[in-house]
Amino acid sequence: MLSVSQAEAIILNLVQPLDHQRDTEVVDLLAATGRILAAPVTSHLDFPHWDNSAMDGYAVRYTDVQHASSSNPAVLEIVEEIPAGSQPQVPIQPGQAARIFTGAVMPSGADTIVIQERTHREDNRVFILAAPKPQQFVRYKASFYQAGNQLLPAGIMLQAPEIAVLAAAQCNYLNVFRKVKIALISTGDELVTPDQPLKPGQIVDSNQYALFSALVQMGAEVQMLGIVGDEKQAIQDAIAQAITSADITISSGGVSVGDYDYVEQILQLLGGEIQIRAVAVKPGKPLTVATFAASAETEETPRLYFGLPGNPVSALVTFWRFVQPAIKKLSGLASNWETAVVSALTRQDLRSDGKRESYLWGKLQLIDGVYEFELAGGSHSSGNLINLSQTNGLAVLPVGTTLIPQGQEVLVMQVS
Ligand code: AMP
Ligand code: MG
Repeated sequence: MLSVSQAEAIILNLVQPLDHQRDTEVVDLLAATGRILAAPVTSHLDFPHWDNSAMDGYAVRYTDVQHASSSNPAVLEIVEEIPAGSQPQVPIQPGQAARIFTGAVMPSGADTIVIQERTHREDNRVFILAAPKPQQFVRYKASFYQAGNQLLPAGIMLQAPEIAVLAAAQCNYLNVFRKVKIALISTGDELVTPDQPLKPGQIVDSNQYALFSALVQMGAEVQMLGIVGDEKQAIQDAIAQAITSADITISSGGVSVGDYDYVEQILQLLGGEIQIRAVAVKPGKPLTVATFAASAETEETPRLYFGLPGNPVSALVTFWRFVQPAIKKLSGLASNWETAVVSALTRQDLRSDGKRESYLWGKLQLIDGVYEFELAGGSHSSGNLINLSQTNGLAVLPVGTTLIPQGQEVLVMQVS
């Protein structure tokens, strides 16, 4: 059976990122949050746009104040006041200063700012009580960024810091990758939607909602195709529809060895090539991955299919571990596809049978600079979704490890 890292490598290898030309759209700045830049951005503006003051104080000529001290202040004539947003009117001559405020344009002739706390003012004279360093508190034109250089590279997700940069550079329209299209299918005769009354033997299709939530958080465009009973034709119709419209189809259930587990058979019937049948992972062993060759005229990249196990925990763990990196790569993100892993101290004994790579769910917390892992209380059955609430970490026990004792280090995958 494939190891987790082998399966991950196979999956990432199957994914072709969206195309820089064909799979892009233009969005305006306020719609760009969470989107992935499809082309590098450059600006014709320098940052700062002009020399300016970093502090409230006085713009001076360094040579006038270099020997100043509280016992022997330099006394300068104040020739103008420059608030932020105004343009200086007079050059600073020897023996002169301008009152200036943070972000205001430096007057010509001045080269240094003396902060107001180091001064004393009397009418139109300022006493400089301490010598500054040359050029102190001046933010020079283009010292942060020079016009024409690359401002942001392609392949990054636009979040608050990048939106700030783009706004400042007046980039009001951005070329981003289109959203990744994901279709969701749940299989199982026992499943109903959350708003339907439960009859004996029925449970709610929680997987579709969990996956929808995780995918929306990732910025995907999600098509919920609903519940399909354990009936071959119905499953075949749903999968056939999904694979024509979505980049990635994700189903849950029906991939195990039970009499009603038809997914793999149907994938092959529809021309899918099975790439993975099972992975040595717990929970989540019966993971099916298939590819469908795309039609030659329309596109070059194959469609991916993930058949996740039906158990709610297995579905979510395999989604986080295998599907999420694939979606990130597909989305156009240039790096950081793999889920982040941190080292933490476990607050409980962590146990596994050692036969498969095991993922135990719980809470990762940073306490006094050290990550600690709190194992979720209650049953760690893959059918128990109740104690999944507030999970933000999966402790990883490698094959061969049966116990990580309380207080010891464990690698924890950060999930959301
Ligand atoms: P299966 O993989 O179809 O054999 O399903 C394994 C277990 O997961 C069964 O107990 C199912 O009832 C349950 N299950 C399957 N699909 C879902 C779903 N969409 N939501 C919640 N539980 C599910
Ligand atoms: Mg089933």
